Amino acid sequence: MKKILLIGTGGTIASVESERGLTPGFSPEDMIKTLESPVNCEVDCTVSLNLDSTNIYPNHWIELATIIYNSYEEYDGFVITHGTDTMAYTAAALDSMLLHLKKPVVLTGSQIPISLVNSDGERNLTDAVHYASEGLAGVYIVFNKRVIKGTRAVKLRTKSKHAFESVNYPYVAYVDNSYITYHTKPEEISRGSMIKLETSLCTDVFVLKLYPGINKEIFRFISNNYKGVIIECFGSGGIPFYEVDLAEEIKALIQSGIVVVLTTQCLEEGIDIDLYEVGRKIYRNNVVISNDMNTEALLSKLMIYLGKYNSMQEVVHYINLDIERESNEYLFSCNVSL
Ligand code: ASP
Repeated sequence: MKKILLIGTGGTIASVESERGLTPGFSPEDMIKTLESPVNCEVDCTVSLNLDSTNIYPNHWIELATIIYNSYEEYDGFVITHGTDTMAYTAAALDSMLLHLKKPVVLTGSQIPISLVNSDGERNLTDAVHYASEGLAGVYIVFNKRVIKGTRAVKLRTKSKHAFESVNYPYVAYVDNSYITYHTKPEEISRGSMIKLETSLCTDVFVLKLYPGINKEIFRFISNNYKGVIIECFGSGGIPFYEVDLAEEIKALIQSGIVVVLTTQCLEEGIDIDLYEVGRKIYRNNVVISNDMNTEALLSKLMIYLGKYNSMQEVVHYINLDIERESNEYLFSCNVSL
């Protein structure tokens, strides 16, 4: 019989009503009693955190990754119950921190606490446990019957049960209790290497969303206080140069040693900086152009590579490799959709 470790971190799924509003208070042991169908596996429980995911910080990612790493040999899969608000960030971070992962790590949660009637918690938890005991290796979010690759998830809806979308990547599978229907071909898993834990994070990272009217002084602030910045450009990669020349500001940032990662505010289809004049002016040396990787996934990658490497060239090189690998996986998944 397979063995699964259920790790509680709080979030709505574990919340109970209190005078202060909904607050985590339901244990993983209590949650496991609510499963909708019997599971053909043994489930052990542990509590890592008891937080609304709004309060989850990179040090908590390290704590979670370390729990998985330390109990890796003992279990066949891991389920993490987590608040939905930052679940996509945690999923992407775990994907970057647990290298050569060959077992499923499945995050799930709910929009309505499991302690209340009409909760989606029982359903999601049941599906997550089934998927973790039978699913593919890698980090995934299981929510509302969909399996989403951990690096491709975005929370799109604040209230409805279909909270998450898979962006620039098909759903990996649909899961309904023990019935799993795969939608894309499983990822290739490199069999040779042992799991490795990556915990060297540098959090001196800024995320900047461009907006009409932006003041270029923000670039001074970034330059003085951060080591890396993710810039969410307009559309296909547009950066203003008419009222303010932000292309010049970005060039100055890069030349002062700040790692600049460019992505788009549009969720789907990625950037193409050669399409418009507003993109072509972008300085090309030592800049990361993110293709179609979302901010949630870029954030932990930038933190990890800034923590691991001293030179800007190395940081840019390794993020670019990850972006290329993800893009290739996406193309692969399109060709082999089942
Ligand atoms: N604020 C909650 C959290 O992220 C929302 C949820 O879990 O759905 O912890």
